[in-house]
Amino acid sequence: MINDPNLARARRLARQLRALRGAAGLLPDALVLLDAQGCVLWSNRAAQRLLGLDRSDRGSPLSERVGSAQLDAWLASGARDELDEVAAPNAPDVHLSFSLIPLSDGQHLLLARDISALLHLEQVRRDFVANVSHELRTPLTVIHGYLELIEPDDVPALAPMLGELRAQSKRMGQIVEDLLTLSRLETQQHLREEEVEIAPLLATLVREAEALSQGRHAITMEDKAHCNLLGSPRDLHSAFSNLVSNAVRYTPEGGRIAIRWQRELDGGARFSVTDTGYGIPAQHIPRLTERFYRVSSSRSRETGGTGLGLSIVKHVLALHQARLEVASEPGKGSTFACVFGKERVLAPAA
Ligand code: ADP
Repeated sequence: MINDPNLARARRLARQLRALRGAAGLLPDALVLLDAQGCVLWSNRAAQRLLGLDRSDRGSPLSERVGSAQLDAWLASGARDELDEVAAPNAPDVHLSFSLIPLSDGQHLLLARDISALLHLEQVRRDFVANVSHELRTPLTVIHGYLELIEPDDVPALAPMLGELRAQSKRMGQIVEDLLTLSRLETQQHLREEEVEIAPLLATLVREAEALSQGRHAITMEDKAHCNLLGSPRDLHSAFSNLVSNAVRYTPEGGRIAIRWQRELDGGARFSVTDTGYGIPAQHIPRLTERFYRVSSSRSRETGGTGLGLSIVKHVLALHQARLEVASEPGKGSTFACVFGKERVLAPAA
């Protein structure tokens, strides 16, 4: 028998390739190998179940075979981030998450994962939080109502406790209201587009800041943009007011707070609040918009914080395709800015 080492090597490689394809074929995620023109070179078994692709589709353009406008647009835009929550072409109840991995020679590996169970769990969590908050609202209103009715002078022995009870029931009520706001924002996919008049909104924010500060801070406002926004007046007020109230609450007496409304070079606009307060160490900044994340729990509670303000800001801005920028230096102060794209800016008010 001729012992050809090249032949033996080729057989070994072919065996390994078959084993690799066999394993990839059995993966629960859909895998599709695409050539530089976006045509299907190979796909696994899950791709048939999730995308409706089979052997006969090899050599055909993916966009023709799958027929998803969302997927086509994502691929055309370069597919840098994952594409989430796309209904599977064959099964509308199945939701997919796509990612694209570049290979050599212009080829790409398209990965589609079934995330329906994850989305379902997320929905269960959202419903649970919304239901609990809703159920707590009525009993809390009753407790708070009765506490308000009791006159401290009528029960002198309970007077010191009464103040604390009222403050705590008010705080719980505020947490429940904030949780309900977050639930509403989370389930809301789109905004009712309305013109939001910014000049009166800025005046309201200054009044709110002054009421909260009680003369302890120097508060200034500057409107250089003279333009309005397209969005939800109620939600934008809530977001901006959270930033203003944080600036007041996290700035010691004698500090300065500046509220600004400015245009961006790209035609967008920026709402910012700068304070000369405690500031935030850099490692905390990426986590500030998580629910109940606090740099200092005691300071947040003392000043009446619910720990949900910046989560609300994040959701409101996401609904307006805007972003939150935070710059802060411990001991010097912070600037929180909401940056809106030019599509959201309405011509300067006359
Ligand atoms: P809270 O109700 O606790 O203020 P937020 O979500 O509004 O909750 O803010 C989260 C945390 O971020 C706060 O607990 C605080 O530690 C920090 N923070 C927010 N704004 C400021 C600010 N202007 N200066 C310093 N720290 C801030």
